[in-house]
Amino acid sequence: MTNAMNASSSSNSSSSSNSLHQTFSRSTIANSLAGKSVVTLDDISTAQIRMLLDKARYIDSHRKEVAHTCDGRVLATLFYEPSTRTRLSFETAMLRLGGKVIGFAGAQLSSASKGETVNDTLKVVSNYVDVVAMRHPKEGAAFVATQAVSTPIINAGDGGHMHPTQTLADLATILARFGRLNNLTVGLCGDLTYGRTVHSLIETLCRFGNVHFVLISPDELKTPQYVIDRINDTPSCTYEETRDLMEVIGNLDVLYMTRVQEERFTDREQYLRLRDTYILTEEKLQKAKLHMPVLHPLPRINEIAVDVDDDPRAAYFEQVKNGMLMRMALESSVLGDELCGYEPTDFVNVPEDELQAVDVHGISLADSRVHVTDVNAPENLTCPNPRCITNSELTLKRKFYKADSVRHEYRCMYCDEESESK
Ligand code: ASP
Repeated sequence: MTNAMNASSSSNSSSSSNSLHQTFSRSTIANSLAGKSVVTLDDISTAQIRMLLDKARYIDSHRKEVAHTCDGRVLATLFYEPSTRTRLSFETAMLRLGGKVIGFAGAQLSSASKGETVNDTLKVVSNYVDVVAMRHPKEGAAFVATQAVSTPIINAGDGGHMHPTQTLADLATILARFGRLNNLTVGLCGDLTYGRTVHSLIETLCRFGNVHFVLISPDELKTPQYVIDRINDTPSCTYEETRDLMEVIGNLDVLYMTRVQEERFTDREQYLRLRDTYILTEEKLQKAKLHMPVLHPLPRINEIAVDVDDDPRAAYFEQVKNGMLMRMALESSVLGDELCGYEPTDFVNVPEDELQAVDVHGISLADSRVHVTDVNAPENLTCPNPRCITNSELTLKRKFYKADSVRHEYRCMYCDEESESK
């Protein structure tokens, strides 16, 4: 699912040509996100992701120089779901750029508690602010927001679906530890069904290529098919699934631990049975590579014992700092506000092999990936995902895109779930 494009075409997901990147000068790429929304990192090119990573590094070492970048701007943080880090991180990012912040934390504090739709709330709030960061328990909510208004929307997490700015923090952390985002064996452990950070990270690492994913979870919490499909569609990426962390820990370059997402379970018994499946301890880490960073999007419950915090491999508090820097880079970029003194470094130049890489359908991995609503999709299609916003806000028009030309299946534009026929 991607933002902005809909309705008018019946073609499959598409990508523009690679030559687009070659014609971008460095300064053009620095300004290329102005006015854009980010529902998933598929909405932007790998050159733009590189540019955000590059800007974040610059911001970190030029805090004073960038302190007035967003003077006069206002960010709204619309958080319909609990959050500590992400909301404060978005807000601090804007404050450190000189802008101001309004918003709410908790749906009970908004008109949603009176039954207002996401569409209506956005049509109101967009009159007040220049950019919106939105978190919502329903999958596809940020996409709905992009359809409602032209103000840039940044998805701060939509249900169990996507969390693109966490992925930006994860990429910055991996890059800092390895100096690269490819040629890695990445273990993802815990709740891979509802862990939206995992979905965003896999989708994005596939685009940088040459990653072997080790998906470690109980059978009940395996990775959704639409995410597995992305790995299968990427010629240079592979995966294996296992339940046993200790069996594979010694092979990993990166270990990404996740919390079992209590709030997404409909069956409490199942949550209680699964929540303690993985607990990483310092003793278990003895079997891991000496330089294998341990990432976690936080909050942790007990899946990483506190004795791991003092191990140099613990990278999760570094991720928090990187999250704020990446949000500063993203907020200023979608506002089109230039960072004083910033000149893109060579890192923003996409290497030729990354630029030329395509998936098994011939779609560029370097370009943004825009799904287009298939206006010829059968009328009896429904989205079976109970967490999809189309199944709670019933006035929303259902939209589907054709997933690929081989299986002729349709997926929901809002949550990427495979459609069903009524
Ligand atoms: N903070 C992350 C998220 O919002 C991870 C978590 O909640 O477990 O998805």
